Amino acid sequence: MRTLTESDIRASFINCSKGEAKRLNPPKDLADQPWEDLDFLGWRDPGAPERAYLVMERDDRLVGIALRATSGGGRGFTARSMCSLCLTTRTGGGVALMVARRTGEAGRQGDTVGQYLCGDLDCSLYLRSRKESVAGRVLEESLSPEEKIARLHANLESFLAKITE
Ligand SMILES: [Zn+2]
Repeated sequence: MRTLTESDIRASFINCSKGEAKRLNPPKDLADQPWEDLDFLGWRDPGAPERAYLVMERDDRLVGIALRATSGGGRGFTARSMCSLCLTTRTGGGVALMVARRTGEAGRQGDTVGQYLCGDLDCSLYLRSRKESVAGRVLEESLSPEEKIARLHANLESFLAKITE
């Protein structure tokens, strides 16, 4: 994806208030992100680790989603979970249930959508083998990396559709 600036990121959010978008902490090392290998920019808020964010490009526009992690990283958590975007299976809390507030009236009523996602939101890097998950593995599949990346994009689209429908 293209390189994003802090103001690009703050202006992209569709499911949080302007105030929240203004206060959130973007990744510290924005200039050093591996942009060419990212399908979306995802990170945990360095100042509030239960908060996570995801920014993607869609028809030349940016769409940012604010998330809240409700599980993962807990001690002794050994259940195996699969990320719903990249389908990496990980143990030890490497996959967390993340909840996004829906847009529009549904969101104002407090309606949310929850999905299991890689806790570090580095799905793009796992699919490109740029990052190994310590306690996990990528499903053994006959898909090429390009096909897995296409599937990641399709999964992102369906997550976004659930948030905005
Ligand atoms: Zn993932």
